[in-house]
Amino acid sequence: MKRIVILGSTGSIGVSTLAVASAFPGELSVIGLGARSSVAALRSQIERHRPRAVAVADEAKSAELRGLVGRTTEVWAGEEGMRRLAAMPDADLVVSAMVGAAGLVPTIEAVRAGKRVALANKEVLVCAGEIVMREARLHGAEVIPVDSEHSALLQCLAAGTLKDVRRLILTASGGPFLRATGEELKRATPEAALKHPRWAMGKKVTIDSATMMNKALEMIEARWLFDVAPEKIDVLVHPESIVHSLVEFRDGSVIAQLSVTDMRIPIQYALFYPERLPGEWGRLELDRLKALHFEAPDPRRFPALLLARRAMEAGGTMPAVMNAANEVAVARFLAGGIPFTRITDVVERVMERHRVAVDPPLEDIGEADRWARDEARRAA
Ligand code: MG
Repeated sequence: MKRIVILGSTGSIGVSTLAVASAFPGELSVIGLGARSSVAALRSQIERHRPRAVAVADEAKSAELRGLVGRTTEVWAGEEGMRRLAAMPDADLVVSAMVGAAGLVPTIEAVRAGKRVALANKEVLVCAGEIVMREARLHGAEVIPVDSEHSALLQCLAAGTLKDVRRLILTASGGPFLRATGEELKRATPEAALKHPRWAMGKKVTIDSATMMNKALEMIEARWLFDVAPEKIDVLVHPESIVHSLVEFRDGSVIAQLSVTDMRIPIQYALFYPERLPGEWGRLELDRLKALHFEAPDPRRFPALLLARRAMEAGGTMPAVMNAANEVAVARFLAGGIPFTRITDVVERVMERHRVAVDPPLEDIGEADRWARDEARRAA
């Protein structure tokens, strides 16, 4: 029996992880759940999965939850509660699925406790990839990707060794605006941006997918996860989202991973890695698909990819600044405060103003994150 903790259990990935856990009652036991504030959702998850402990980041909400659950489940509060959850001594695996930079501290806590971490929160590696991977080596922790592209890369890499890799190729669906003109992009509404053609995901990542900032973050994520030089990471638009990523080896062989678009497949792979258990999440019928398409991304309409290259080149605190500015800009766009194309403009503006700190400790990354949010609020 594998004991798992889920940080961010009420979000899209958290809910899918619990669906996988429900499918393997003999193999997986949920011992801890954490969420920011969704008390009602947490309560029904507690009834269904009977975890020993839950943590609620919002202190007031944790008190509310305490009044609703029985004494068999402990309720912990605030950042301290999340950290405690992340380091539960008998947890075999911690799923890190909190949204945004809030996931950083608990994830590092899990890594320092030497856990196997199934990482769905890409911001953790974007902001502090160097630190997280260094700490993981130091404490014998493992970071297994949940993101479908990185799960694909991990699976493709099993066909060779890292030193023989010529390129990691991340695929991108292109989002709802793949064929939109520059003018149409300017006028794009939140409603249109939230209609992703392939994946059902949370709001933030769906908007990131429309700007291709999601792929920009994933490039940085891949750089740290697999310890690969930035120039070896490429992006290819693949509207069908069937090939989840590819690895090109130096002998010219290209290995790809394919499956239907269902996050429960990469989640299950991360939970049981490197084992493969029977999955009931839908099978690929290639004969029905007929064709798969690939094209180069257009950096003029989707400048986020260039921003990622710049952030990787600058290193240090710059990727954290890119991420923080983007979070603020996306929130502003969703609230109707700025046009769609302004999202990446704001990010670029904030990055231009940032003075990079090289090899920053965690505190400096936090400081850069706060600075970038303030700047982005002013610029948006
Ligand atoms: Mg992804």
